[in-house]
Amino acid sequence: MGDARTIHFVSLGCAKNRVDTEVMLGVSGLEGFRHVDDPTEAEVIVVNTCGFIGPAKEESVDTILEMAALRDQGRLERLVVAGCLSQRYPEQLAEEMPEVDVFLGSSDMLKLGPVLRQDQVERMQVGNPADYTMRATDPRVLTQRGHSAYLKIAEGCNRSCSFCAIPSFRGKQRSRRVEDLVAEAEQLVERGVVEVCLISQDTIAYGRDLDGRPSLATLAAALAEVPGLRWVRLHYLYPETLTRDLVDVLAHHPKVLPYIDMPLQHASTPMLRRMKRGHGGKRLYELVDKLRKNVPDLVFRSSFIVGHPGETDEDFRELVDFVKWAELDHLGVFLYSPEEGTASGAMDDLVPAKVARARHRELMRAQRPISRAKMKARIGTELEVLVDGQSDEHEYLLEGRWWGQAPEVDGKIYLSNGDASPGEIRKALVTNAADYDLVADLLTPEGEWVAPPGAKRPRRRKVQLRTLAG
Ligand code: SF4
Repeated sequence: MGDARTIHFVSLGCAKNRVDTEVMLGVSGLEGFRHVDDPTEAEVIVVNTCGFIGPAKEESVDTILEMAALRDQGRLERLVVAGCLSQRYPEQLAEEMPEVDVFLGSSDMLKLGPVLRQDQVERMQVGNPADYTMRATDPRVLTQRGHSAYLKIAEGCNRSCSFCAIPSFRGKQRSRRVEDLVAEAEQLVERGVVEVCLISQDTIAYGRDLDGRPSLATLAAALAEVPGLRWVRLHYLYPETLTRDLVDVLAHHPKVLPYIDMPLQHASTPMLRRMKRGHGGKRLYELVDKLRKNVPDLVFRSSFIVGHPGETDEDFRELVDFVKWAELDHLGVFLYSPEEGTASGAMDDLVPAKVARARHRELMRAQRPISRAKMKARIGTELEVLVDGQSDEHEYLLEGRWWGQAPEVDGKIYLSNGDASPGEIRKALVTNAADYDLVADLLTPEGEWVAPPGAKRPRRRKVQLRTLAG
């Protein structure tokens, strides 16, 4: 292994996994390894797996096998499997996948160092998640395009949602200290980052396990003080009654975006009870209402599960009614996936797959006109846009995101009629809208719109939606 100097990473699953991969990339750099994009060039391959739900597990297994096949065709000497899948099924994988040389878990990022350094290594190195929480001193190589980075503020989760297996293999919540997160944010800014997206399993519970119990609002405000950081964005908030501090920081802090990503999962009270969410549907109406009333210009992203055991037509209708009422800006819909070791996985009143798929389609259909109207309502408005760089799709355009679009999940804004550098935050006039993306003209640094030949300034459109019209 002494000569092995090339490494390839495959990162599967969520943004939290991506941060773990970035730490392992940092570790491999310290060990003198060079990352190669082509796996056939790599002497070491690391697959950072996802073990969350059925399809993600299948993708992880397929990827491991695909990479293992390179032992015969490429230069592969050592195949390392890390992440949630090996954390969740260590013995089973070790037995069924003899092609894997080393198994690390979801909290064993730093163990990659010795794995790369030593000729003889123990095959099974899956540890206890409680033993590790990321720190600002951990090496990290950023992989996100543009000038945005995820900030992992905690690991693990203390809740017991009946459909979710995560707490069983990611452990109890371990929040990082405010000072450590501020230190990491400062390092990120030094590397050109202007936007941080706060992530964890349960962001709203941040700090409850720390001395002094610092809140998410305290953390967001502290991060926003980091010089050079322009946008602080909050993801994955559990739908608890929001504290006044958090609402205030969302509503008034100039750098904490009035953007909320709050997975609601369902809206019918019997379903929420079965899902062990600790609240009923009424709470969600109140929450959305409170946020809309108190946070001007709020952009709201959420996600729901359809086809959970016991979901009746009536429950589903309640969910559709809620989605129509809430007029959310961005919506994700997931098909329920039964997971062993969860309370929902043992329930027997299953929803037939065909019915679940039809509900998935119907909920997406219910949301489409809402999303479309919200996008059209932006035409003629001026938005603050973070420029990511040249567009992948259109050679002559720049692309970026206005603050209501989170990286990787919410679409883009294509920018014409102007010049800007990646990482700049500039104003742009929206001239057109598709279902998920916007088109805009960059304004001059003085805030003026230079009309392209023959163009008239687009008018702001009237929209029928309750919240936007109000
Ligand atoms: S809050 Fe999220 S991660 Fe925690 S148990 Fe519920 S669904 Fe799973």
